[in-house]
Amino acid sequence: MKEIILCKYGEIALKGLNKSTFESMMVKTIKRRLASAGEFRVTKSQSTLYVEPLGENPDVDEFETRLSKVFGIVKLCRSGAIEKDLKAICEQAPEYLAEVLEGARTFKVNARRADKKFPQKSPEICSELGGAILDRFPHLEVDVHDPEVTVTVEVREDYAYVHSDPVDGAGGIPVGSSGRAMLLLSGGIDSPVAGYMMARRGAVVEAIHFEAPPYTSDRARMKVETLAKLMTAYCGDVKFFCVPFTEIQELLRDNCPEELFTILMRRLMMEIAQRICEKDGDIQALVTGESLGQVASQTMYAMVCTDAACRMPVFRPCIGMDKSEIVEIARKIGTFETSILPYEDCCTVFTPKHPKTRPSLAEVEKAQASFDFEPYIQKAVENTSVTLIKNR
Ligand code: ATP
Ligand code: MG
Repeated sequence: MKEIILCKYGEIALKGLNKSTFESMMVKTIKRRLASAGEFRVTKSQSTLYVEPLGENPDVDEFETRLSKVFGIVKLCRSGAIEKDLKAICEQAPEYLAEVLEGARTFKVNARRADKKFPQKSPEICSELGGAILDRFPHLEVDVHDPEVTVTVEVREDYAYVHSDPVDGAGGIPVGSSGRAMLLLSGGIDSPVAGYMMARRGAVVEAIHFEAPPYTSDRARMKVETLAKLMTAYCGDVKFFCVPFTEIQELLRDNCPEELFTILMRRLMMEIAQRICEKDGDIQALVTGESLGQVASQTMYAMVCTDAACRMPVFRPCIGMDKSEIVEIARKIGTFETSILPYEDCCTVFTPKHPKTRPSLAEVEKAQASFDFEPYIQKAVENTSVTLIKNR
């Protein structure tokens, strides 16, 4: 039987957004993300996108997995597409859902008649199909209140779609509907999660990484590129900037108070990131993986000092999360295992023994002004490399 995946986005997500723009963004994303999975057709109707894998033996699992990472889709129903005829439905639906029905003890049937011209009404569809299922699987019982499996028949324009319980989609709103952000991407656990969260709310995410060779190794950089690559499953292609940061870190170490090293380094990172945004154009905000109070550089005092060096807004989607919650998302999106690989990050190499948790902006600005970083900032910007990390 032909299988079609119904992608539902629900009306709530459409609030304040133009529905058709929203839909075409999702269609575009789906076309791009699924392109290498095989041939398929995507159409839309009634707040649903229909993705129909084509050709002989399409890898429907793969289509479904990729669709589950497209933001804006709330539910996915992998369905058998059956001719719009009650007899055909009663014959084919139990077969199509055999595996899940065999493993269940209770079920119910739920019919939705989007096609009001379909001759039988919903209660009749339910009782006929319910009966057919009981005939085929006598071990089952009907439980209308708390069934283990709900068999749904949706009679729509072209087919009757039959499926068991839907799976969760990625939620959020389509990438591209909320502007463009530059993520400061380290090799850690938090920043990939921060990027994922911004993309989930519709932002296009670009990434900037600061490396400090030879203190940091090639493998450390490759690890960050791997993280960016993993993020593309959700974010789409990621433009990746890599900044040579060694010289600035050495200058900071040699010319500024050690206890302010981290905060000064962060301000300089922000400065360089902003200049790259200005050069690249059309980027509205910076994003970091900071979480309040997680480490000395993430106290509110420290963040005030960092933000004072920023002309652009800085978004920190992990700000109110515990580490365990961030880890949970990192595991879900598949970045955790890479993030915990033990390669040095440029921050850890020079971390002071006793960073100041309550720096004042005045002392930070004074320390930064004691040395002319400007030529080195310019040099770092000029020598920044850029690559496009593709989804596939
Ligand atoms: P993460 O797990 O994201 O590395 P962290 O808890 O290790 O975060 P820090 O190392 O203090 O915290 O970094 C805070 C944030 O600063 C990171 O989430 C990231 O956004 C940014 N950042 C840190 N190091 C780098 C780097 N080398 N390149 C780019 N951004 C960085
Ligand atoms: Mg880190």
